[in-house]
Amino acid sequence: LNAYFSLIQRESGFISGLVCVLHDVTEQEKIESERRQFVSNVSHELRTPLTSMKSYLEALNDGAWQDPEIAPQFLKVTQEEADRMIRLINDLLNLSRMDSGTAKLDLETVNLNELFAYILNRFDMMIEKDNNDTRQTKTKNYTIKREFTKRTVWVEIDTDRFIQVIDNIMNNAIKYSPDGGVITCRIQETGTNVILSITDQGLGIPQKDIDHIFDRFFRVDKARSRAQGGTGLGLAISKEVIEMLHGKIWVESKLGKGSTFYISLPYIDYDEGDLWDED
Ligand code: ADP
Repeated sequence: LNAYFSLIQRESGFISGLVCVLHDVTEQEKIESERRQFVSNVSHELRTPLTSMKSYLEALNDGAWQDPEIAPQFLKVTQEEADRMIRLINDLLNLSRMDSGTAKLDLETVNLNELFAYILNRFDMMIEKDNNDTRQTKTKNYTIKREFTKRTVWVEIDTDRFIQVIDNIMNNAIKYSPDGGVITCRIQETGTNVILSITDQGLGIPQKDIDHIFDRFFRVDKARSRAQGGTGLGLAISKEVIEMLHGKIWVESKLGKGSTFYISLPYIDYDEGDLWDED
């Protein structure tokens, strides 16, 4: 805390008052230290794939390019690393637009039950496609359970961004779960809000990390997240998007048992009758 004092002196020489300015520097210092940490994180996140790319390119240059077995593998790795960097840069641009307030929302009134079902059907299709594709090594198996409120719930959202958020939480639920897990997706209502939740039977999140899970670049297990292609920015972006939509996002988790991610949004209060009256 910085404090400045100055005396107010009248022309006559009398001291008629005292001005005291208290300036809270802790907040400023916190912001500055977070900014430094962020720049350091970005540099590190970019250096890792670049260093790896460089060593594979060096090996190719040193003769590996002539080896018909090794060369394609090494090229594939460099391509994956380039993809990771592009993902990271896109995520960073996205966040920076939201930070500066230049991100535009394309708001529309959407039937949440229908939209959530549509997103989940896409995830079901991915497993089916995977099971029918004999060329590919199979990725993880999972079952999606749906428990939706019977009432149709309307919300005002930016559909593309909202889909991005749900995709991210669903992908995490799959990524951080064992093979064959069940993912339960719910839509519930409170008086004024709709609560959408996604529950997995995965690793869970240690209690001490719960408060940091939406921080930029925070990962419970850095190596595991990187190995799975994660940028560590997905949940930070999700939080920004949901807050821009005047909603809330949070998580409850039991280590070794699983996690539930919740999104609450204000819903538009008209019953189905009102919609038909419009014509
Ligand atoms: P990442 O790209 O690393 O997945 P996210 O921002 O999406 O980045 O998630 C941040 C971290 O939160 C992850 O690295 C992981 O440690 C943890 N996490 C996210 N979702 C889950 C989940 N469903 N179960 C367990 N841990 C999770």
